[in-house]
Amino acid sequence: MRYDILINKLEFFGFHGVLEEEKRLGQKFIISGKLTVNSPDALKEDNCEKTVNYSEVCHLIGEIVEKERFNLIESLGDEIARRILLEFPLVDSVTIQVDKPWAPIRLNVENVAVVITRSWHNAYIGVGSNMGDCRSNIETAVKYINDSIFNKNVNVSTLIKTKPYGYVDQNDFLNGAIAIKTMLSPEELLHFLQKIELDLHRTREIHWGPRTIDLDIELYDNLVINEPDLKIPHHEMHKRDFVLQPLCELNPYLVHPVYGKYLVDLYDEIKK
Ligand code: AMP
Repeated sequence: MRYDILINKLEFFGFHGVLEEEKRLGQKFIISGKLTVNSPDALKEDNCEKTVNYSEVCHLIGEIVEKERFNLIESLGDEIARRILLEFPLVDSVTIQVDKPWAPIRLNVENVAVVITRSWHNAYIGVGSNMGDCRSNIETAVKYINDSIFNKNVNVSTLIKTKPYGYVDQNDFLNGAIAIKTMLSPEELLHFLQKIELDLHRTREIHWGPRTIDLDIELYDNLVINEPDLKIPHHEMHKRDFVLQPLCELNPYLVHPVYGKYLVDLYDEIKK
């Protein structure tokens, strides 16, 4: 059962802002929020252990607003949203509004505010390696993903040995898929995965050439993104058995958001 908890206009005194006076004198901040809770049992059992304790949420918000310091109310709102997702596992999505009624803009304005939303998203990552100790490279990448507080519920498919694709004069690959829940946006997730590739000393001399580790975002919720640096679903995933086979092991009934077909059906098509 999904339902929303609303928190309206919590008032605090804090020291956020870019100007020296704001950092020194402080001012009023008003926080409102909407938490989408996913708890199968809360309503059935009428039990407060099975829901989110809104008093604890309000006190957490107070700790952040009063004890921490940010230049931007955007950063303050994001920190509140991320901490709520981390500390209250039943919360799927959170929207936070930060009002700054005394903002120093020397005009007669009632209020300025920012609104930030963070949610848990389902992402599927394709992983491949064909240099060095491939299994250990992949295990290290999975450890990075697992260790990040921005990810949870990490699930790894069986790793399969596959023939190289594109540039074929190289070692066989070990491929797999990783399912995660992440609070990173698609762009943040790409950046996070690229940092792991760099840390594992991936070399990129030949297109489709040998690599210690390759991490691609195959799917992210049912989003379609077509930016120069980021294509989701990952280009040609629907044609590649080394992508589809491990993904199908994790979740055969994922729907490809462009073709509108189950992955298991796309996999059957390329196997014919
Ligand atoms: P590759 O060598 O196949 O890992 O390609 C890396 C390049 O693909 C990077 O410059 C990324 O910006 C770009 N790219 C586009 N879409 C994706 C995606 N869904 N996942 C990972 N990299 C992507």
